Formats: sequence, C-alpha cells, structure tokens
Amino acid sequence: MNLTVPSSASVSVQGLSLDFGAVSVLKSLNLDIADGEFVVLLGPSGCGKSTLLNCIAGLLDISDGRIFIKGKNVTWQEPAERGIGMVFQSYALYPQMTVEKNLSFGLRVAGTPKDEIARRIARAAEILQIEPLLQRKPAALSGGQRQRVAIGRALVRDVDVFLFDEPLSNLDAKLRSELRVEIKLLHRKLKNTMIYVTHDQIEAMTLADRIAVMRGGVIQQFDAPPVIYNRPVNRFVAGFLGSPG
Ligand code: ADP
Ligand code: MG
Repeated sequence: MNLTVPSSASVSVQGLSLDFGAVSVLKSLNLDIADGEFVVLLGPSGCGKSTLLNCIAGLLDISDGRIFIKGKNVTWQEPAERGIGMVFQSYALYPQMTVEKNLSFGLRVAGTPKDEIARRIARAAEILQIEPLLQRKPAALSGGQRQRVAIGRALVRDVDVFLFDEPLSNLDAKLRSELRVEIKLLHRKLKNTMIYVTHDQIEAMTLADRIAVMRGGVIQQFDAPPVIYNRPVNRFVAGFLGSPG
C-alpha cells in the first residue's frame, strides 16, 4: 500500500476500513481526491457511501487506515477541526430560528466577529439567492428553499471541503434537476472540493469530475463519467452505470 500523500490531494483516504461489530462495512478503501475536484460516491443503497462520508467528516471512528485533508492527518481530529462542511438529505435546520439565525449559528458559537458573520451571510445569501428569505423560519420555506439554506450553512463556514449526503433525494424531480444545476454552478464559482453521495446515476453523471462506484464497501472503479460509461471495469459497474452496448 502506498502511504505517501500526493501533494495535490485535497482529501486522501488510505487503507480505510470500518467495522460495525463483526460486520465489515468499508474494506480497505483508497481514494485520492484532487484540490477543487467534484467527486461523486455512487452505489446502491447499503454499499457504504454514507459511512465513508461520515468517516471523512469525523463522525465515525474508523477501524483502520488514515484520512488526510489538505495534507494534514485528520484521522483522530474532531469534525469541527477538519475544515469540512456537510449537507444532509434531511435539512437539519433549527425550526425555531430564522434563516439568518440558522446561517449564523455555527459562526456565533465559534466566536466569529459580528461584521464578519454579516459579510459571510450576505455573500452566501447572494450566491444561493435566498436574500428574501433571511427573516423567515424553516416552516415557511419550500423543500428547495430549505435545502438552499442547508447548503448556505456549509457555505458561510468558508470550508475547504464540502460533503453532501443525498442532498436532493427528498425533493421532487423538477426541483432536483434545478438544484443539481445550482450545485454545479456553485462548484464552478467556489472551486472547492466536493464529495457528493448519491444512488442516482443521472446526478452522478452530470455533477462529477470523477465517480467512485461503490459496492459492498469496496470502490469498484474511480474514473471520469465517460470512462465509467464507456469502459466499465466489471459487470457490476456496467450494469449499474455503463453503456448498454
Ligand atoms: P449507503 O449510504 O450506501 O446506503 P450506509 O453507509 O448507510 O450505506 O450503510 C452501509 C452498511 O452499514 C449497511 O449495511 C448498513 O446497514 C450498515 N450500517 C450503517 N450504519 C450502521 C450502524 N450504526 N450500525 C451497524 N450497521 C450500520
Ligand atoms: Mg446513505
């Protein structure tokens, strides 16, 4: 196993294993993600996508291996120290707080100065086009608006790496495709590293610079969408995503 950290790697997962009791959920995974890259983790339900993302976020203790973010070994660091922002499928907004308070909460806890908080919220609100919503509470927002606010909460933290866990799967098809375009534009604008979990092939094909196709806790193939589509490495990848021909 090569344990050197490539200098360009934004996120490097090396020999990562995770067991839940006797069950091995992630099996010695290696994944090197370049700075500014949009990587999609794609695979059927239960293959370990969320578990891998949660390991990178620091929400789970791993059984073996190492995780580097921006060249720093973060394997045993707390989530808040890792320079990542996470957006979940369920919006996880605070229902009693306005959108503005939802956006500022983490920054206030971290002791960020007031004018800096205001500056970051204004920027995030402009990018996500949620300025008119700042004084509303989550109950008064549509699903798409809530998900924009959830993305905004990661955005205001000015993180190097964004982690998304099926952020669009609770939305209807029309909203899903709209927000997909927005997330793509957001990535073009921010140029940060994004790791995006989905079981939706179209989402993966349209968003990713590279797709890591997972099955049973193993990465089957990690390549650009056209390569995966035209040259799947095995029948599983071909059946899940590959060209029908
Ligand atoms: P995915 O996100 O790809 O649908 P998960 O990462 O959520 O898959 O789960 C991978 C496997 O790990 C599944 O078999 C799931 O049942 C199992 N698993 C997930 N979380 C736990 C847990 N806390 N305890 C035991 N098993 C778990
Ligand atoms: Mg999942």
